[in-house]
Amino acid sequence: MGTTRPRIAALLVLLLAMVAALSACGGSGPGSASSTTAEGARPVIAVTTPVLGAIVRDAVGDAAEVRVVMPNGSDPHEWRPSARDVAALQSADLVVQNGLGLEQGLQEAVTQARDDGVPVFTATDHVAVRTVAGSGGDHGHDHADAGGAGDPHFWTDPAQVRRVVAALPAAVRTSTGADISRQAAAAGRRLAAIDAAIAGDFAKVPAAARTLVTGHESLGYLARRYGLDLVGAVTPSLSSQGQVSAAHLAELEDAMAAAGARVVFTETGLPNAVADAIVAQTGATLVQVGTEAVAGDASYATWIRDLARRISSSLANTGS
Ligand SMILES: [Zn+2]
Repeated sequence: MGTTRPRIAALLVLLLAMVAALSACGGSGPGSASSTTAEGARPVIAVTTPVLGAIVRDAVGDAAEVRVVMPNGSDPHEWRPSARDVAALQSADLVVQNGLGLEQGLQEAVTQARDDGVPVFTATDHVAVRTVAGSGGDHGHDHADAGGAGDPHFWTDPAQVRRVVAALPAAVRTSTGADISRQAAAAGRRLAAIDAAIAGDFAKVPAAARTLVTGHESLGYLARRYGLDLVGAVTPSLSSQGQVSAAHLAELEDAMAAAGARVVFTETGLPNAVADAIVAQTGATLVQVGTEAVAGDASYATWIRDLARRISSSLANTGS
């Protein structure tokens, strides 16, 4: 029984995930014990995306083991979990997800873990959500409607990240018993310092050059925080999986000309041919940025500072 039970449990997890995927509303089974924490072992926090993983790791320190489900460099909008990934969520003491439809492929698995009694912390429940006006099902997210869609990319604003970090200790304490309040407070202070440094960087960019053209609508929070003009996105969607039409590209090129935008920040998931076409039409400079992935084991603070610096210096160099 000792060796067969875990296998049966794993099979059951798979089966439940499949059932949940097939039916629109997953059934809520009786909550089973999900914690596998042994005596003395650190609690396990499963985090969906690499960026969120870096944020949580910094706030948690050594109090818990942070396991990131999506591999680095993956596009969170399109990533799909394996059976092992589903099992990892199932056996965690706490699941931390981004929310607002970012992890589309992982949603069924997270719902299943929650139904089985694993506490789920949703980061975007704790941010001042930016909404984008609905444009008739143009967005890649299920929750999008005519009233506008909530933008999931809160991590491009360190002030929003700070709010999430401030909310974490209560959730971690409830689910694992660990006290991370001091560590999280220190992380919050670092985020405040980073926020001030980034604001200083953007203040040096000439006002006319503070424009943003991106791959998809991934930098809205950064724009809101630091007073940048969001001219448009190549893929006019909150998801990198949105569609690009020739009519939209023509509109974007007009908007870029009107705003004097001379840089396009390209990202994961943007087809090269599309980027090349824009460069040919507008003479803009392409600058590659990673908006959804933290490289290696970099801290969130280092990552956001580098991203913002890359954007501000590119704008300053091409601005008139
Ligand atoms: Zn995105």
